[in-house]
Amino acid sequence: MTPQHPQQFGSDNWAGTAPEALAALIDASRAGHAPAYGGDAWTQRACDAIRSLFDREVEVYFVFNGTAANALSLAALCRPYEAVVCTPLAHIAVDECNAVGFFGHGIALLPTAGDPAAPSGAKMTPTALRAAATARTDLHAPRAAAVSLTQSTELGSVYSLEELQALTATARELGLKVHMDGARFANALVALGCTPAAMTWQAGIDVLSFGMTKNGAPAGEAVVFFDRALAEAFEWRAKQAGQLASKMRMVTAPWVGLLEGGAWLRHAAHANAMATRLADAIAALPGVDLLQRPQSDGVFAWLPRPAVESLHERGWLFHEMLPPREGKMGCRLMCAWDTQAETVDAFAADLATACRA
Ligand SMILES: *Cc1c(COP(=O)(O)O)cnc(C)c1O
Repeated sequence: MTPQHPQQFGSDNWAGTAPEALAALIDASRAGHAPAYGGDAWTQRACDAIRSLFDREVEVYFVFNGTAANALSLAALCRPYEAVVCTPLAHIAVDECNAVGFFGHGIALLPTAGDPAAPSGAKMTPTALRAAATARTDLHAPRAAAVSLTQSTELGSVYSLEELQALTATARELGLKVHMDGARFANALVALGCTPAAMTWQAGIDVLSFGMTKNGAPAGEAVVFFDRALAEAFEWRAKQAGQLASKMRMVTAPWVGLLEGGAWLRHAAHANAMATRLADAIAALPGVDLLQRPQSDGVFAWLPRPAVESLHERGWLFHEMLPPREGKMGCRLMCAWDTQAETVDAFAADLATACRA
């Protein structure tokens, strides 16, 4: 019989809703009737909390998920014959069913070159950005108009502020708008220990997909425009795309619960700490090759195939993410806001047994 583990390392969105988000959701439900479509007090509070977080007058919209946040914000930055530079592992490139092309009426993606399995693989460099954006400037190829940077990246690395500034300076020089895919925004923020403003508009970001689902919200991501002119008619775009929640406070109340009081930062710091604990526990096992020390909430490692099979037999679920190397499987082990130290230790013990078998 395969054992059942109450927690897994499949993804940070396998976790449930955080208590602070749930409490706010219940309060918002018990508070009687309220205007629909975002005209309610909870949505106002969530927007105010986001504005004060970024220390700036920003335009904020809520959509149901990260794919919509990315695709609709990039559609606002590009015309149909234009393109978005991204990395080959970018979520928009490999995990969003080309929603950018769909909602952007033909917008193309221009992946940068580079080895996705290199430690910094999921990070873009200014050189790679320039090469991808300028490879073709004739009218027979889509014209680069934006760049999308994922923070933290699909391989769990975190751009430093200097790296972000260098990339956005290159983007400006090339006439590109800058989008940040912040599905794991909080994990990157606590890893850098900087302010949300420093990691976004002060570093040259124009629009952010601000994720909270992977950090304890039940559903719903925010699109935050730092360049408010780019938000022109965004509400029509979102409504037409089926992304305007009628009972909006059920999406926004959890944000109030998580932002006011700072639970979102505590949850992200905890998830990051669990990833570090996991990496520390498995790094020295025979046959285990870590891609890099975890910088946020994921551990990426090549594991011997028999060890992976043994873990699966012991009921552990997780994904392969990196191409196989030297016959080993490139695995992704994600921690979440609620991952318990006991879960990490039990997994590490099973992996140790499997590696020594
Ligand atoms: C999870 C994730 C998203 C959002 O995915 P949805 O399933 O559409 O909510 C976006 N970008 C990255 C990097 C992600 O990991």
